[in-house]
Amino acid sequence: THFGFRTVREEDKESLVRGVFSSVADNYDLMNDAMSGGVHRCWKSAFIERLAPAPDTRLLDVAGGTGDIALRFLDYVREQNGGALGAAHVTVFDINPEMLRVGAQRFSKLGLENGGPHVSFVEGNAEELAGIEDNSMDAYTIAFGIRNCTHIDRVIRQAYRVLKPGGRFMVLEFGKVNNPLLSTLYDAYSFRVIPHLGQILANDRDSYQYLVESIRKFPTQQQFVDMMKHEGFQVVGQGYEDLTFGVATIWSGWKL
Ligand code: SAM
Repeated sequence: THFGFRTVREEDKESLVRGVFSSVADNYDLMNDAMSGGVHRCWKSAFIERLAPAPDTRLLDVAGGTGDIALRFLDYVREQNGGALGAAHVTVFDINPEMLRVGAQRFSKLGLENGGPHVSFVEGNAEELAGIEDNSMDAYTIAFGIRNCTHIDRVIRQAYRVLKPGGRFMVLEFGKVNNPLLSTLYDAYSFRVIPHLGQILANDRDSYQYLVESIRKFPTQQQFVDMMKHEGFQVVGQGYEDLTFGVATIWSGWKL
């Protein structure tokens, strides 16, 4: 591929990822539906149900992109709280201004503008979380974002920093498929079909090739639990839950 992903230096990964998401921003929601057959919607809803936010939850949604998690968070609070948003607040945090722009458009269509009481958009790097205060958040979510970061350990460390004691860290990401037959089918689908779909639907094969490769390189379910524990998080039970045989996985940890 012309990006040369396989030989990319660590310093370059960030700008490379920026390029990928700038080029996919406008098609991002459509492509998610096309590639996952709409299943990403179920995973994201399950993710928010596990979080079970309260009407006063302050959430930091990192790599929040076009706002899928933030919208579900506010919907959940509304449903549980008799139609009211209470003091719920979500900060959508993303390194890419194009993704945030698409997200902000979705919220303004719903009358939830930036600067309003329930949502704000912040541009920045998950490895730094500049501008987010220590011990300030009840919950931290990152959905399909952490595998794009160069230093996963730094991302987890920053999550720990900004959470209040008692706060919860939740990750939704592609896992390793735990069924041998399905795993073979999944490999065939992701290596053969997804780059083609990227070409046909978005005229952008390389970005989708990159996405597939980044899934391969991500740690296993247990390796990621060990990284969370290493940064100080406590887990309940095994610390993760596989969705769809581990095609996606939810990890959860507590700052105590
Ligand atoms: N969370 C959204 C969702 O589930 O639909 C968006 C996921 S999208 C696959 C990944 C997002 O991660 C992109 O919006 C990208 O800009 C963002 N991202 C990549 N690297 C990042 C970093 N180092 N810090 C913050 N955001 C980052």
